[in-house]
Amino acid sequence: MSELGAPKNLTRNVLWGMFLGFAVGSTFFYTSFVPDFFEKIVTEFVLNLGGDIFKNLLKLIVVPLVFFSLVAGISSVSDMMKLGNIALKTILLVVVSTAIAVSMALFFGWMVDLGSGYQAAAGNFDIAIPQVSFYDTLLNIFPNNLFGAFVENNMLGIVFFSILFGIAVNSTDHLTGNLSKAFEKLNTVFLKIVLMIMGFAPIGVFCLIGAYTASKGLDIFGDLAQYVLLLIFVLVLHMLLVNSLFLKFIAGVSPVTFFRKIKDVLLFGFSTSSSAATIPVTLKTVTEDMGVKKDVASFVIPVGATINMNGTAILQGLATFFIAGISGIELGMGQYIQIIFLAVITAIGTAAVPSAGIITLTIILNQLGLPLEGIGLILAVDRILDMLRTSVNVCGDAAVAVIVAATEDELDRDKFNAL
Ligand code: ASP
Repeated sequence: MSELGAPKNLTRNVLWGMFLGFAVGSTFFYTSFVPDFFEKIVTEFVLNLGGDIFKNLLKLIVVPLVFFSLVAGISSVSDMMKLGNIALKTILLVVVSTAIAVSMALFFGWMVDLGSGYQAAAGNFDIAIPQVSFYDTLLNIFPNNLFGAFVENNMLGIVFFSILFGIAVNSTDHLTGNLSKAFEKLNTVFLKIVLMIMGFAPIGVFCLIGAYTASKGLDIFGDLAQYVLLLIFVLVLHMLLVNSLFLKFIAGVSPVTFFRKIKDVLLFGFSTSSSAATIPVTLKTVTEDMGVKKDVASFVIPVGATINMNGTAILQGLATFFIAGISGIELGMGQYIQIIFLAVITAIGTAAVPSAGIITLTIILNQLGLPLEGIGLILAVDRILDMLRTSVNVCGDAAVAVIVAATEDELDRDKFNAL
């Protein structure tokens, strides 16, 4: 796909954007030598607007890209049994890696006795918590209005319809004069749009990070230090260790090569805090750089972005532990098992957008009878943690795609190993 003209030095430029964003944002937040009106105009019309435009562009492309890549991928699968295998393996990997993620969070929370030393009362936090029902999550997979699903960005519903449509195109190809080829071509056009948008990524990331730092500063880590540090530790450990083990022993590929090639995906997950918004980059990376064949990637990546949330499961395990700790509630074995079970389900049901994991955390707290007010404490530091856990989520999506492709003999190993 490099004939499509990928932007050059993207990772380096995005890192520069991030660094300059921190620099400009901190200058606004910590110093007063910049005139107020100037700071206001730059924050509003450069940082906020630029960041929002960039996020809009990414979201703009997600729905058509998922639709066309899924239909193109599925309609060209010659053996329909294969799709069933791909789906089954994806779901199995998601469930196992998510269960490991939340178990690790609980284990480390228990090791350091998280939350027991925290003295402040967990009250006085006024937040509105929308409830998300599991029933609705399931029902949304089957939308009653096609256009409604597209308009509302109902990703699971769109995935379901695209699969249905792809199968129908596949099985009528002989009657329609190879309609599946047309979807291939449209998919290529949309991938080109992705690359065009990606060209603006360094500026977009500069604006997103700058706007965040200008309004919140850098000392978000000051409070709740133990919770924050432990969460970061478990997130990084899971990302490096679990993905490496899976990649090495199930897929038989080098984790080092994988991590060398995943940089852009992590950076995009980090700066957008949205697995869904990162889909274009994840798709491009696994197909172009890692050699995952398109029919596997076009299924696994959108589905993975929607249901595979290892980072979110870690947040939910550790936050539940923390809130129980600060409320003076000791958890027993039965509750640990309940948390693992609930976190797997809620992480799967969490929307792939910023802060969604905090909302679904309420389901677990409710179920265990823990105070919802505890979320107020966690919210104070969640913005930056959301960025980190989204990176872990999207890293898992790419890993699942590589593993499924490897076990289906749909991985171009030469491409994967090429530097
Ligand atoms: N922001 C996360 C994601 O898009 C979801 C979450 O809030 O945990 O993957």
